[in-house]
Amino acid sequence: MSNVIVFANQKGGVGKTTSAVNIGASLAEKDQKVLLIDFDPQGNLSSSVGLFNNEKTIYSALAGQFSINEVIHAIPEFKLDVIPATIDLSAASLELADQEKREYFLKELLDPIKERYDFILIDCPPSLDLLTINGIVASDAIIIPVQCEFFAAQGFLTLLFNTISRIKQRLNPKLHILGVIFTMYDSRTRLAQEVIEMVVEKVGDPSLFFKTVIPRNVKLAEAPSHSQPVTQYASASSGAERYRNLAQEVLERVKK
Ligand code: ADP
Ligand code: MG
Repeated sequence: MSNVIVFANQKGGVGKTTSAVNIGASLAEKDQKVLLIDFDPQGNLSSSVGLFNNEKTIYSALAGQFSINEVIHAIPEFKLDVIPATIDLSAASLELADQEKREYFLKELLDPIKERYDFILIDCPPSLDLLTINGIVASDAIIIPVQCEFFAAQGFLTLLFNTISRIKQRLNPKLHILGVIFTMYDSRTRLAQEVIEMVVEKVGDPSLFFKTVIPRNVKLAEAPSHSQPVTQYASASSGAERYRNLAQEVLERVKK
């Protein structure tokens, strides 16, 4: 059975793309069949795995220029399938805006290929626009990366949770929150620990948080410019090790 999981947080730079790529690569190491979908016009996930300026993108499939099968790029080196995005995806929000069932475009595109994969991971842009809503509607579960910094404890998480519960009620009743990941944890500062405590208290349900916390790790920041997941670029780094742990938690959580 396929698990479709979306990485969402309207704040940028919190580790959505890094988490999607490295959880995906770690699940693939554990012999899971994984499809990564770049659903951000910035195309960071695509370039992180070495796909640049491709014309066979998620947008070209949404626009009917290519079939969904044609836009799936196999990357045997990482044991991953990837659908890339480029800046033209930003046009999709506008083009979809006044169409019927505009929240379901991605879901309808993925339905026919779902059963081929154990996991389909969708990386969203830093917004709550129609692209992100399409990503959430297409998914069974959502993972929310949160950076361990002061702003994480402010209102934007509440806004995100409210948006998720509205989408769940109106558009996708089976949706659930798989978990919140704390990212870029710096063990040298007290602030990081305080932020975790504040956010957990504010959210009120400790079981929503993954036990594995992702440290600030230079290998994680370097890996994308080498077009590799950190699990390949620096297989023994703390970043790689933590993302493998996180992938194990993901496997356990989807079983429940
Ligand atoms: P988002 O997709 O939410 O915008 P990214 O995953 O692109 O966030 O991360 C933002 C930046 O921080 C990127 O340059 C990325 O390489 C870097 N980064 C992400 N996670 C870490 C980490 N744990 N340690 C160090 N750098 C990180
Ligand atoms: Mg991103």
